[in-house]
Amino acid sequence: MRIGVVTEVKNSEFRVALTPAGAHELILAGHDVAVQQGAGVGSSFADDAYAAVGARILADAGEVWASSELLLKVKEPVQQEYPHLRADLVLFTYLHLAADENLTRALIAAGTTAIAYETVQLPDRSLPLLAPMSEVAGRLSVQVGAYQLMKDEGGRGVLLGGVPGTPRAKVVIIGGGVAGEHAAEVAIGMLADVTVLDVSVPRLRALEARFGPRVHTLRSNPYTVAEETSTADLVIGAVLVPGARAPKLVTDEMIAQMKPGTVLVDIAVDQGGCFEGTRPTTYADPTFRVHDSTFYCVANMPGAVPVTSTIALTNVTLPYVATIAAHGWEIALGRHPELRPGVSTTGGRLTSEPVAQAHGLRY
Ligand code: NAD
Repeated sequence: MRIGVVTEVKNSEFRVALTPAGAHELILAGHDVAVQQGAGVGSSFADDAYAAVGARILADAGEVWASSELLLKVKEPVQQEYPHLRADLVLFTYLHLAADENLTRALIAAGTTAIAYETVQLPDRSLPLLAPMSEVAGRLSVQVGAYQLMKDEGGRGVLLGGVPGTPRAKVVIIGGGVAGEHAAEVAIGMLADVTVLDVSVPRLRALEARFGPRVHTLRSNPYTVAEETSTADLVIGAVLVPGARAPKLVTDEMIAQMKPGTVLVDIAVDQGGCFEGTRPTTYADPTFRVHDSTFYCVANMPGAVPVTSTIALTNVTLPYVATIAAHGWEIALGRHPELRPGVSTTGGRLTSEPVAQAHGLRY
């Protein structure tokens, strides 16, 4: 199959949909891989690295789109890319169509088969192509939180792990799923005093089984959230209620009661955030103050570490890419049934019920 990889055009997006190692694997399997010049540079992959494994480097995005049967991207196409959509094209990327009616209509009109990374779903309801980004955001949340806690940054001026003879900083993580577990892992590694709150007791059990006495686990409710956050140095919001906006678990009143210089990192900002007062920020200006606390609410946290994020993403997408390339997307659905909910549009039809509901379109 002819597979194409284009440079991402969205602002501050440095990831790329295929690594040279991935290109090598596909080329070994007999496929043709075309990569737009410079597509991997933001993730530290030079054109030469792709060329060395046999990929064709094309100067122009239009040429890559036109020569591909399977087009791999990271982010959804933006308006300037819509003219490249065609009926005999399979597009595999993050799409977030429920939030983008224009793109939904463009894909239907073009007849493109669009498979969304974020709705590929395993029978246990987990989202295998979203999980690596939650892992990145979870681990990064402690790193950025530790930095914001420094006095010069407006923080309390505490070191997460303290030193012998001093108290450790208290890290409270609300939501102990993928992101929360990875946040806990790094916070424990930095020797902080770590508490995880979740509504799911099985999740708390799993965390205690993994971390033992190095983590405190508590069932999340408004009383416990208020009590724990009032003595925290760093609060990390990592909740997810599938298909819904994040609940506002930390109220403005609770924030007013926190110690001056407390840092709050809201990973769930992409679902509206779980702290009252959360609003999306970018790396250009990542923080703002609420009462005497620092809020950090970057909606695309993995964007800061594109080298790691690209490898983490392509590790999980490549097996699907390989099957689609080898057998076509329809047979791939039989081999990987979890791809089925990912198919959002095909043959001029909308095939995702949640997207149809979001835009009042026929499904
Ligand atoms: P997940 O489903 O693995 O975990 C979410 C956890 O929240 C679950 O364990 C659930 O039981 C718990 N939860 C639900 N309601 C709760 C409540 N009231 N109190 C406490 N816990 C509650 O989800 P995830 O993959 O870890 O993602 C977490 C959030 O991070 C999502 O909103 C996701 O979109 C977001 N995310 C953001 C970025 C970013 O760059 N900002 C990157 C990746 C993921």
